[in-house]
Amino acid sequence: MTDNNTTASATPVTVLGLGLMGQALADAFLKAGHPTTVWNRTASKADRLVAGGARSAPTVADAVRAGSLTVVCVTDYAAVRDLLGASDVDLAGTTLVNLTSGDSAQARETARWAGERGARYLDGAIMAVPPVIGTAEAMILHSGPRSVFEEYASTLGALGTLTHLGEDHGLASLYDVAGLAMMWGVLNAWLQGTALLRTAGVDAATYAPFARQIAAVVAEWLPGYAEQIDRGSFPAEVSALETDARAMTHLIEESEAVGVNAELPKLFKAMADRAIAAGHGAEQYPVLIEEFTKPADA
Ligand code: NAP
Repeated sequence: MTDNNTTASATPVTVLGLGLMGQALADAFLKAGHPTTVWNRTASKADRLVAGGARSAPTVADAVRAGSLTVVCVTDYAAVRDLLGASDVDLAGTTLVNLTSGDSAQARETARWAGERGARYLDGAIMAVPPVIGTAEAMILHSGPRSVFEEYASTLGALGTLTHLGEDHGLASLYDVAGLAMMWGVLNAWLQGTALLRTAGVDAATYAPFARQIAAVVAEWLPGYAEQIDRGSFPAEVSALETDARAMTHLIEESEAVGVNAELPKLFKAMADRAIAAGHGAEQYPVLIEEFTKPADA
């Protein structure tokens, strides 16, 4: 969490949306001593927070008027526009922080939409689950004007550890989906290995520590591989792509031989084969970025 709370010890904050995440956000603001106004479409979800010191606003318009900072966290961007687009809601002069998940185009469009209504707008992505909100473990990403972020960083710091990614409003959502790609990539690879080992009677718990170690070793490769990508030069310092592709064949053949799903290894192999056909077989694995950088049918 940011720890320079001296200038924002009592910033009036409004939280719109009291689902699982919105309730956790409101709790954290209250705990940090910010006068907190809340609103939710289903009004009863405010009851517990009101008992804890929050004020429940009867309408979105009233809620937005109450805080100098309005944080919105609802299901999706369509819901954000629904509730803030009501004719009686005046956004002029407000600072709006949207922590709803979505994609980068929605974030940029909502920034434009809010700007037309006179609001200052920061987008954000919460890379954490509700129970850790309010602790340093909660990673919260922001994008949009740095001046707005800096003005409210100490208040927003009540929610977790903040990072300002840049002025482009779409960045928080892009990092969010990039993080999802990482998460599902690792989990799917682990499930593939677990399915293989179970055919030999090795249970998931036995394999998990081994898989964790492999994931940690591979994670160490990322900075060096990233340098190759940024330089656009992929000398095979450790292994050539064609060597990896041969090992992928073993993975596919093993999966098919023991009767487990081979779709994922076949996808790896198809991408590697295309890069090899394009003349990159003697280069190192991150040369595959060229396959990832274009649509599948290009
Ligand atoms: P949730 O528990 O399903 O709550 C959804 C909230 O959105 C409720 O307050 C709901 O109001 C409100 N809502 C939906 N449509 C609305 C509309 N048209 N008008 C007004 N309010 C509307 O979801 P959540 O877990 O709090 O997630 C909220 C956001 O945080 C999502 O974008 C999610 O991706 C993101 N997030 C969640 C987590 C997590 O672990 N939960 C983690 C990271 C990010 P009602 O109560 O009236 O239905």
